[in-house]
Amino acid sequence: MRYRFIFNGIVQGVGFRPTIYKIAISLNLRGFVLNSSDGVVVEIEGKRKDDFLDLLYKNLPPLAKIDSIKKETLPIVGYKEFKILSSKETKKTTFISPDKSICKECIEEMFDKSNRRYLYPFINCTNCGPRYTIIENIPYDRKNTSMKKFKMCNRCYQEYTNPLDRRYHAEPISCFECGPKLRVFGNGLIEFNSEIEKIKFIANKLKEGKIVALKGLGGFHLMCDGTNEEVVKELRIRKKRAKPFALMFKNLESIKKYCFLTKKEEELITSYEKPIVLVKQKKTLKFIADGIDRYGVFLPYTPLHLLLFEFIDFPLVATSANVSGEPIIKDVKELFEKLNGVFDFVLDNDRDIVNSCDDSVVEVALDKLVTIRSARGYAPFSIKTSSKKNILGVGANQKSTISIGFEGGVILSPHIGDLETIDSVEYFKNTIKTFKRLYEFEEDVIICDKHPFYESTKWALSQNKEVIKIQHHFAHALSVMFEHNLKGEFLAFIFDGTGYGDDGSIWGGEVFWVNRSSYKRLHYIKPFKLIGGEKGIKNPANLAVSLIDESLAKNYPNYKLVKSLKNAPFPLTSSMGRVFDVVAFLGGMIERNEYEGYSGLRIEKFYNEKIKEFIDLKVDKEIDFSEVFNFATRYKGEFELVSSVFINTIEDMMIKISKMYNLPVIVGGGVFQNRTLLSKVIKSLNPYFNQKIPLNDGGISVGQVAYGVWNL
Ligand SMILES: [Zn+2]
Ligand SMILES: [Zn+2]
Ligand SMILES: [Zn+2]
Repeated sequence: MRYRFIFNGIVQGVGFRPTIYKIAISLNLRGFVLNSSDGVVVEIEGKRKDDFLDLLYKNLPPLAKIDSIKKETLPIVGYKEFKILSSKETKKTTFISPDKSICKECIEEMFDKSNRRYLYPFINCTNCGPRYTIIENIPYDRKNTSMKKFKMCNRCYQEYTNPLDRRYHAEPISCFECGPKLRVFGNGLIEFNSEIEKIKFIANKLKEGKIVALKGLGGFHLMCDGTNEEVVKELRIRKKRAKPFALMFKNLESIKKYCFLTKKEEELITSYEKPIVLVKQKKTLKFIADGIDRYGVFLPYTPLHLLLFEFIDFPLVATSANVSGEPIIKDVKELFEKLNGVFDFVLDNDRDIVNSCDDSVVEVALDKLVTIRSARGYAPFSIKTSSKKNILGVGANQKSTISIGFEGGVILSPHIGDLETIDSVEYFKNTIKTFKRLYEFEEDVIICDKHPFYESTKWALSQNKEVIKIQHHFAHALSVMFEHNLKGEFLAFIFDGTGYGDDGSIWGGEVFWVNRSSYKRLHYIKPFKLIGGEKGIKNPANLAVSLIDESLAKNYPNYKLVKSLKNAPFPLTSSMGRVFDVVAFLGGMIERNEYEGYSGLRIEKFYNEKIKEFIDLKVDKEIDFSEVFNFATRYKGEFELVSSVFINTIEDMMIKISKMYNLPVIVGGGVFQNRTLLSKVIKSLNPYFNQKIPLNDGGISVGQVAYGVWNL
């Protein structure tokens, strides 16, 4: 008897075939392995063929992901040996692996004096290194990547063609002799005798308090000494940035000096994907994340980062080099054009980044992973399913992503950015082009948001294709349903900043009945006027004063202005995000909304679980938060009390509503990035929520495609 297997999933360019080869040899099996348009085909004959699958699962290469296996038993052929057969033309729908951090074996080799890649900043193998960021076209072959300009030396070629070598078909394989080179810029190119000299020079500049732009896997970081207040402050001024900075630490021990870590957080920080993890502060570093109690931390994930930390022992600020809200900058020319004056030195290299990819950001709520930004390490993120039509979901406007749905599954793009500048919109269009090329995809239908002013919606309508518009908060709910493959009816709490409602007002505090094809708006926060429009979001004072009792409002300096604007034609909103802003302002925790999500982070900082009080809100179709606003006004300055009562009140309201319907619960929308609220709700309502798909607007494109998969 002979077995024939067909494997599908992420099984190409990740060391899958060599693993199969090794296992087949070790079991004394005969037959072949082959990449084909149906997937990876394996045929085996021999006494121990029944042990094959078991051994494969035990030895699966770290980047491989098997989505399906087809097994057939056939008559014997009489193979003489086991062979890796050369690939037949492959269909382009084979999933592309995300980039992965440097593996243990490569780290060992890099620090082994006798190894020919000792201190080599671009060391990689089939288990680690760049993938998505260097790929130009499919199949994933060196000639289709930005490595094509580096001609492999003899020794690399030997490794590349030996099925028993860890670097068999590692497309970015290289060494000192044949690979990419580092480049240092100050006022012009600075020459050095060796690669390590360049890294040492940059490390010294960081020690001296300089700001460095350093090219990593998916783009440039701006880096400086996180413990040097002056330079961190200087970076803020030069970059005009209010948001917290992420910190890269030498190792886990050094993170623990500055942060409290749970076991789950440790696991994520040290995982293969090496995302930025939002964790609780222990020791204060000024100007890094002022006013809140969290740091975004991560570990070095490329050989270059590791080598840099050989010379320094302080945490590095590592923030994406970009103009606020735009995609991360991927080449040095653009860096000088856009950020000249922001950095003092550049550590560049000549391996081109084809597709930029920002760092991923995650957090943990009650031991559960929550993805805030899906990018390096996670994206492109693929979900196995089957769609009858080719569907393109173009997402929202903020935290833009796109998703495609086709025969092979659904694939979510990396984080693109906020579609608020010409360059972001350009990058959005380019990502669509890239996906079409890499997956040989042509959409039958485009699904977009209902918001007429979203750039993604405008783009969709300008294409000569069938377009379906899906309400924003329904898309949030669909995204959750899709991730967990849910069928049936659900009660969905979607709490969000902004989303275009069916009545043309701005929704965002929504309770829906949903199934896979439709929804009903059961409850919502009583709408209020967004005084000042978009600017009102930055200045919650305007909203706040219009929402409290006249007798209390009179004490505020902006009272007259707000009163005069009360009848101006500003839009109405039911946004929970704005409710957070207003409570944080009235309670005295913020003056202005320094950046998106700031009010929520302030409220989280002051939440005290010992305070059990809440306000028993009346649940009508419209839910009126006036009592909460008046409470916050009265107890202004008592941060813990206001924060805790507010969060407790939301939880209580959700419990009351869920009792009215007796349906399984979904929660979604950016407000649930608030991990205090999410943790409480996980305990009391055991809801479904997005975990691997971003639960903010980064997940909207998946929800849109899900609608298409289920209804077209
Ligand atoms: Zn490796
Ligand atoms: Zn070489
Ligand atoms: Zn949203």
